[in-house]
Amino acid sequence: MKKHFLIIGAGFSGAVMARQLVDALDCHVEVWDERDHVAGNCHTERDTETGVMVHKYGPHIFNTDNERVWEYVNRFGEFRPWVNRVKANTARGMFSMPINLLTINQFFGKSMGPDEARTFVASLGDASIKEPQNFEEQALKMIGRELYEAFFKGYTIKQWGVDPKELPASVLKRLPIRFNYDDNYYSKKYQGIPGEGYTGVIRKILDHPRISVSLGRRFAPSTLDDLSGGYHHIFYTGPIDAFFNHSEGRLGYRTVTFERVETDAEDYQGNAVINYPDESVRWTRIHEHKHFTPWESHKKTIAFREYSKETEEQDVPYYPKRLASDKQILMRYRQRAEDLFRESSEAPNRPRVTFLGRLATYRYMDMEAVIGEALELSDRFLKAAESKSAVPIFPNQEK
Ligand SMILES: Cc1cc2nc3c(=O)[nH]c(=O)nc-3n(C[C@H](O)[C@H](O)[C@H](O)COP(=O)(O)OP(=O)(O)OC[C@H]3O[C@@H](n4cnc5c(N)ncnc54)[C@H](O)[C@@H]3O)c2cc1C
Repeated sequence: MKKHFLIIGAGFSGAVMARQLVDALDCHVEVWDERDHVAGNCHTERDTETGVMVHKYGPHIFNTDNERVWEYVNRFGEFRPWVNRVKANTARGMFSMPINLLTINQFFGKSMGPDEARTFVASLGDASIKEPQNFEEQALKMIGRELYEAFFKGYTIKQWGVDPKELPASVLKRLPIRFNYDDNYYSKKYQGIPGEGYTGVIRKILDHPRISVSLGRRFAPSTLDDLSGGYHHIFYTGPIDAFFNHSEGRLGYRTVTFERVETDAEDYQGNAVINYPDESVRWTRIHEHKHFTPWESHKKTIAFREYSKETEEQDVPYYPKRLASDKQILMRYRQRAEDLFRESSEAPNRPRVTFLGRLATYRYMDMEAVIGEALELSDRFLKAAESKSAVPIFPNQEK
C-alpha cells in the first residue's frame, strides 16, 4: 500500500519535508494549514493598491552559508542578490547600522581609522565593571554609556519588554561593533530575496502531483485517534504547547504588530529598514517594502511601523522568549511527545508524530535553519524507515 503522510503547517518546515518525502518515496502527502495561504510567516503577497510585494509577517531576508540549503532554495526560485543596510533614527540623528566605523565617526564627529577607533571605543568602556552581571553592565563595559543608550538600551526595552538589567550578560557575547565601513547587516556568503516572493518559492516546493495542500484547515490534536486518512506518520510544525492543549502551561513569546504608515510619497524613507532605538518612540522600526525589490518599479509605496509586545492568546507567536521557566515547560512537552510516540507505536492504527520547525521546537530559527533542519530530518526519517529502525521524534536535542 502507498504510504500516506500528513503534515501540519505549510511554512518552509512543512513544505520542505513534504517535498523530500515525495521525491524519495512513492507516497502521498497531505499538507494542512489553518491560514488561507502557504508559506507560514514568510508569506509575501502583492499589495493590491501599490503593486508592491509585501512581507506580510515582517521583513524576511534570506541569508546562509549552507551550500545544500542555498542549492535547494534555488531549485524553486530565483534569489536576487539583496543586502540589508539598516539605518538607525536616533535623538542625535540618522546613523548606519550595525555600528561600524561610519557610525562611530559620525556619532562622535571624528574621522578615525580602524585602530584609532578601536582604542577610542575601548576608552569609552566602564573599567570599574569587572564582572558584568547583566546585559546593561556588559554593554557599559564594552562600549560605554553614550553608545549603549543611543543604540541598545531603548531598543532592547521595546523589543523584549524587560529592563536590560534583567537580561543575562551572555546576550551580548561579542563586541557589537565593526571597525570598518561594512554595513551589511548579515555576514553570510549567500544573501537574497526571491524575485517572485517567498510564497512563490514555497508554492513551487509544494507543486507536485502527490502533494495535496488544504488551506483554511486546522488540525485539532485531540482528534489524533479519529483521523480517517490512514496516515503512516504525521509531521507537526505548529506550536508544541498548543498540540498538548497548553496543559503544561503556555510557552512565552514576544509578538509584533504592524501599523500602516499613511503617506502619498513615492518613496517614504529611502531605505528598506530604519530602526528607532529611542525608548520615547513607541515603534521599533519602519519597513518600506518596495525597497526589498529594487528591480521592480512602483509609483506608490507601502510602509509599516512595527511594534513589539507580549503574546496574547489570539496573537501570532513570533519570538520565543526561552526564559528558564519556559524551558522547564518545554521539557515537559518534549517528554509528553516522547510518551505519545511510544503509546502510538503500541497502537497499530494511531499515526506517530514527529515535531519540527520553529514553533514545534520552540526556538528562534532563521529560514536557512528551518530548511536545513527539515532536510536533515527527512534524511534521518527516510533512512530509519528503510532500515525499520526508530524514526526521530524531534530534529534537535534540547539542553
Ligand atoms: C518578524 C520576523 C522576521 C524574520 N525575519 C527573518 C529574516 O529576515 N531572515 C530569515 O531567515 N528568517 C527570518 N525570520 C524567521 C522565519 O520567519 C522562520 O524561520 C520561518 O517562518 C519558520 O518556518 P516554519 O515552517 O518553521 O514556521 P511557520 O512559518 O510559522 O509555519 C508554521 C505554519 O503552521 C501552521 N499551523 C500551526 N498550527 C496549526 C494547526 N493546528 N493546524 C493547521 N496549521 C497550523 C501555521 O498557520 C503556519 O503557517 C523572521 C521571523 C520573524 C518573526
